[in-house]
Amino acid sequence: MRLFFVFLFFTINVFAKPPLIILIGPPGSGKGTQADLIKSNFSYPHISTGDLLRDNIENQTQIGNQIEKLLKNGTMVPDSIILKMLYDRVHSNDCNNGAIIDGSSRTIDQAKYLYNVFSDEYNLIIFFFDLSDDKSTKRIINRVICKNCNAVYNKVYYPSKSDKKCDNCSENLLTRIDDKQDVIIKRLNFYNNQLPKLTKFYMQKSNVFHLDADQPRDEIFLVIKNLLLHIENNF
Ligand SMILES: [Zn+2]
Repeated sequence: MRLFFVFLFFTINVFAKPPLIILIGPPGSGKGTQADLIKSNFSYPHISTGDLLRDNIENQTQIGNQIEKLLKNGTMVPDSIILKMLYDRVHSNDCNNGAIIDGSSRTIDQAKYLYNVFSDEYNLIIFFFDLSDDKSTKRIINRVICKNCNAVYNKVYYPSKSDKKCDNCSENLLTRIDDKQDVIIKRLNFYNNQLPKLTKFYMQKSNVFHLDADQPRDEIFLVIKNLLLHIENNF
């Protein structure tokens, strides 16, 4: 039996705009995992603001150096930096047929910006990942990622097959610098502070869905997939 609580706000879409799928949820709620599943099933590129930030850090760009200091302190990266990176990325050619954005819309200003800038060109589809603080924390503490291919594992929930190595590329698995416990608490507090404003803003929009994120990932994906197919068929 499925325990998803999905609230549907369907509208019939008259114009066939490509989808811009936006995933919103606390850290550890499985947004990245679902983004990868959507990507492999629907062939939309997966844009992670976290990856955009980390790419800048790794390449030691000027922005990257600023971001690294902020992340180490658990301070959120300013909207202006995130939105500039997102704008450029979504206007790349590989996003012409649609894209998935994961990790943005954390603030109400970002959410409004995304709507203003992209809703003429794209059909915005929003998924909220609902998960308690306690469960988010447990998931993040055990999370490890592959630095080479960005695959995400969890030492408890989804361990890699070989110890501490990536199943895809055999690279060593690492904890993310922003996955330390005190930093996690700051990130959760920040998210919880923004959430009522985000929920209220999106309540007035179409194609907004709430998912129970405390479910096996394949079941969550099945719900997402059916919703996306339904929306596609109504174009
Ligand atoms: Zn890998």
